[in-house]
Amino acid sequence: MTPRVGEFIALRRDIHQHPELAFDEHRTAALVAERLQAWGYAVERGVGGTGVVGTLVRGDACAPGAKRLGLRADMDALPIQEASGVAWASARPGLMHACGHDGHTAMLLAAARTLAEHGRFTGTLNLIFQPAEEGGGGALRMMADGLFERHPCDAIFAMHNMPGVPQGRLVFRDGPAMASSDYASVTIEGQGGHGAMPHRAADPIVAAASIVMALQTVVSRNVDPLQMAVVTVGAIHAGQANNVIPARATLELSVRALDREVRVLLERRIKALIAAQAESLGVTARIDWRPGYAVLVNAKAETDFARQVGLDLVGAEQVTLDGPALSGSEDFAFMLEQVAGSYLLIGNGVPAGAGSSDEPRPGACMVHNPGYDFDDANIAIGSAYWVALAERFLA
Ligand SMILES: [Zn+2]
Ligand SMILES: [Zn+2]
Repeated sequence: MTPRVGEFIALRRDIHQHPELAFDEHRTAALVAERLQAWGYAVERGVGGTGVVGTLVRGDACAPGAKRLGLRADMDALPIQEASGVAWASARPGLMHACGHDGHTAMLLAAARTLAEHGRFTGTLNLIFQPAEEGGGGALRMMADGLFERHPCDAIFAMHNMPGVPQGRLVFRDGPAMASSDYASVTIEGQGGHGAMPHRAADPIVAAASIVMALQTVVSRNVDPLQMAVVTVGAIHAGQANNVIPARATLELSVRALDREVRVLLERRIKALIAAQAESLGVTARIDWRPGYAVLVNAKAETDFARQVGLDLVGAEQVTLDGPALSGSEDFAFMLEQVAGSYLLIGNGVPAGAGSSDEPRPGACMVHNPGYDFDDANIAIGSAYWVALAERFLA
């Protein structure tokens, strides 16, 4: 059963025009909840802040073997000034749906309606509309609020659009698929002094420079060369004047890995190196380590299931069975730590080729770019995919 897409393209553009930041998705959440309710879902609002869960039960949900499925979409936008030029561009200055979460919400709503009106399934369907994917940790907040206790799931799935991949192509991968993302703030305390008398000071700038260089050896000398790891020093601040040795320097680090053990190794080696470097140079270093998103690991069996649904729906030529891992991160990783499932990608289009007469498509622009837009042609494919997956899982 193919969802009717016209009204959901209009809805997607409406959400696009009214972007809301993490945990501020009040309008979007209300719109989602009202529609789900109208289609007969039992709706719980305010889960983990602005999250919404719509539940539809068919048949005897308590019968032996009756299954419970979770499908998740994210709803938040980004603090970016839109420059896509589309007619439905953001009406809110400085805010923009630059990651396509408007499209993810519309795809799941389109599927929700079709499943409510024509769905052939037995069991429990949980549609999870999540706030704050963009760094806010909305998934964890929903889980801390009892998401899976009140709405238990035997498997969960989520889908994200991907520019640079042909529009509508479905990309799967089992095992680690997206990186963990941790943050560290390092404060190096020395002793300030006159630039002409460094022997009577403890220079935090020299120590900071040495630490930045030493950190490069974590990836090159400590991590297995066949594993992926990133240690980026994205900010360094110290000093005001050429003839003053400051008392303090600060570093901001982004640390990523695709393997849980590598993630632990990175933290251990970074902390040890910084402490040893500081000690050897006569300064102190304080490290504020903030764990971010976990490694996203797709379960093998659930990914195989999701692949087969994709193959049967769009055919082998429109499916990538084993796509590359990504160095970005995604907080659906936390849900996958608790419930087996899979996260798939749907192509948002490639740039028009040189000499081609094709119009440049905003969808080919990378996510988080001011020129980006979700490709509405994906609403038909994405929602049909959710319907097919739900009907098969809850057969
Ligand atoms: Zn994003
Ligand atoms: Zn996103």
